Amino acid sequence: MARLGPHSTVKEGLVPRVFPLRLVPEKEVMLYAILNGIEFDAGWCPYYSRAQRNEFRDILNSVEERSPGTKFSIVRFYDGIRDILADAYQAEGLGGHCRVCGSPSSSDVCPVCSFLERVKGSGGVPEQKG
Ligand SMILES: [Zn+2]
Repeated sequence: MARLGPHSTVKEGLVPRVFPLRLVPEKEVMLYAILNGIEFDAGWCPYYSRAQRNEFRDILNSVEERSPGTKFSIVRFYDGIRDILADAYQAEGLGGHCRVCGSPSSSDVCPVCSFLERVKGSGGVPEQKG
């Protein structure tokens, strides 16, 4: 949580997360796009059903339905403690760079390149189940 965005500083080699629409509900963003003729991809990620965040999303949506404003309260709470968390849990230095892509990394190979190596080694991304 201490490293979640939006980020107020820029670290060399990394792109800061700014989340310009984080306080605007997704449905309102979609409605705005529809009303203003803005094209967007409304398709689902083919791996959507595998994401663990779906369970957390369902829980939050259920609580939000029973107590409207809960999601905003959680965001406001987080914004209130973000600086405290950042001070208490200083980010470890990345220390080096990925030997494959050169991006800042705390390990010899960054997580993205590590994933790509595993995918290439296995013959590709596994088929979606369920
Ligand atoms: Zn890499």
